[in-house]
Amino acid sequence: MAQFDDSLKAALYRITCPDSAALGHYHLGLLPDAAATPIAEHLAICPHCTQEIAQLEAFLVETAVSHQPSISERIKVWIAKRLPTGGQPQAGWSSPTFAVRGGDTGPLMYEAGDAQLSLEVQDDPEHPGRKSILGLVLGIDTANVAARLLQADKEGTAVPLSPGGNFAFTNLAVGPYQLIITGPDIEIHLPELTIA
Ligand SMILES: [Zn+2]
Repeated sequence: MAQFDDSLKAALYRITCPDSAALGHYHLGLLPDAAATPIAEHLAICPHCTQEIAQLEAFLVETAVSHQPSISERIKVWIAKRLPTGGQPQAGWSSPTFAVRGGDTGPLMYEAGDAQLSLEVQDDPEHPGRKSILGLVLGIDTANVAARLLQADKEGTAVPLSPGGNFAFTNLAVGPYQLIITGPDIEIHLPELTIA
């Protein structure tokens, strides 16, 4: 008799239950609020749907390989902030090898998440009237990291960082640029870099 009661109760509950697809979409957070709210309220009182969600959860854990967060969720994106000129370097910030040359104003310093970035714009000795950028990235693993310099909507060239974090661009026209440093799990954006 207890058995019968349970299945009767189950049947009564399930009349008002959302279907499995709706539960699944709810669980994955795919439903708009208007659709999600009644399901949330139903789940609060319905042991059957709660159990169904638990089974779904177990299934998702088993198949987690195909449900890894997308690349965009795993990559840390940092916007570089210019550090005030003459400011005290942070702890752990070592002087870039090519920091100060005679007559130069010194490197531009940026901070982006865990990374520190130093850029020095110079005349390109091999290309009269053109500029070069010497860069140094510290604070991150530089394996498989590349620096990309973009001008307007042009793709621009990418150069790999040296193991020490150095990179260089040469033969540049003056003008506004964007610098993007990309690695396996980081992206550093320097949206406004004007070479003058
Ligand atoms: Zn239910």
